[in-house]
Amino acid sequence: MTRHAASTPSAARLLGAGDRLPRILVRPPGPRSRALARRLERCESPGVNTVFRGQAALAWSAARGANVLDLDGNRFIDLAAGFGAAAVGHANPQVVAAVRAQARVLLHGFGDVHGQLPRVALAERLCRLAPVDQPQVYFAVTGSEAVEIALKTALLATGRPGILAFEGAYHGLTLGALAVTARPEFRLPFAAHLTSHVERLPFASSPEVIAATLRAHTDIGCVLVEPILGREGIVVPPRGWLRGLAAECRRRRVLLIADEIFTGCGRTGRMFAVEHERVRPDLLCCGKALAGGMPLAAVIGRRQLMSFWATSGEALHTGTFVAHPVACTAALAVLDVLRSARLIARATHLGRRLALGLKILARQPGVLAVRGRGSLWAIEMVDARQANAITQRALERGVILLCGGPDGRVLQIAPPMVISDAQLSAALEILSLALTEVAGE
Ligand code: PMP
Repeated sequence: MTRHAASTPSAARLLGAGDRLPRILVRPPGPRSRALARRLERCESPGVNTVFRGQAALAWSAARGANVLDLDGNRFIDLAAGFGAAAVGHANPQVVAAVRAQARVLLHGFGDVHGQLPRVALAERLCRLAPVDQPQVYFAVTGSEAVEIALKTALLATGRPGILAFEGAYHGLTLGALAVTARPEFRLPFAAHLTSHVERLPFASSPEVIAATLRAHTDIGCVLVEPILGREGIVVPPRGWLRGLAAECRRRRVLLIADEIFTGCGRTGRMFAVEHERVRPDLLCCGKALAGGMPLAAVIGRRQLMSFWATSGEALHTGTFVAHPVACTAALAVLDVLRSARLIARATHLGRRLALGLKILARQPGVLAVRGRGSLWAIEMVDARQANAITQRALERGVILLCGGPDGRVLQIAPPMVISDAQLSAALEILSLALTEVAGE
């Protein structure tokens, strides 16, 4: 073991199967977390190091199931599932076993140049699973890269550079994806590098407004949409809206790209959220939960669109780690676990419990709204100060939460789908206490 690794025997004892309740020994972030944050502050860029506005963040030492252990020995329930990536639980045992076995035989492949079995097996599996007609897969490493591949595919296939995107959308922060991400403070510093071919409408705009926009901007080749706005506030559109959008796209011969990077892999109670409305997009992006915590993303698109990538020379879009064999193996294990542990049905079950629990919280002062679907929910507060204070109070009692939304007013709830009923009840109780405390300040 290197000295950077957690002492695994005690972590294993403290985390069990990852189904434990919180245990706070020292007020988080404790001294070890703070010391680590200060070390990072010296050697890692501001903005991404773990010191925000002078405050140190938690340092993780181990995670399992729905639990995270910090360096000070505190045990938490993770209501953020590590940005949604740990949908099948942190360090899911089947995923870890698959990763270990694969790492021993083929740790790294040769990108797009040579094949390997995990890549083929996963591509075949995704083609079977995705609600896309005559599908083919394009692998990526991050969600942002998947969005870039989808946008490039649309441009290659239609020749039209225009993109219709939505206010409140989050599609990633690399230059291509950033152009379609809505939040101005992300985009403005880099505006000079971003494509200007983006039209933006309010999320869930009426079919008439969408039709008029597509009519007026004939250079629009694709519409990019999150079936549920994720990071920017968990906004669920009215029933039928996505279906109407898909119909409008078909009518105007504009491609529909579904960004399911957050909503995919069972999070909303279906393998992909578009399935709630029986929508079959032209291109579908997935990532985050796909490989259970390993970096992997993919675009699944209609074969006829993918055919535009054919070249007689080098691949037009690829990278050193594309279709990484260990990540592909992890993804195969994730897809097995989703089925064998019936986790997609569990997301629906969690949704029922969350709907009930959050309805009670919605009566607390300062709460504007609660909303969500499956295991993806939000509590929208009146102001960001309250949301931040609640996040801190919840952390101090052992619950990890993320604030989102355009101005940080929205508490996101996207737990690992393996979270036990007892853990979810305990986490909601802690949230309720945090809300009451903050309301009384
Ligand atoms: N699209 C959506 C809907 C997302 O939620 C995210 C990540 N929050 C991304 C794209 C970008 O993915 P990544 O951070 O892996 O680049």
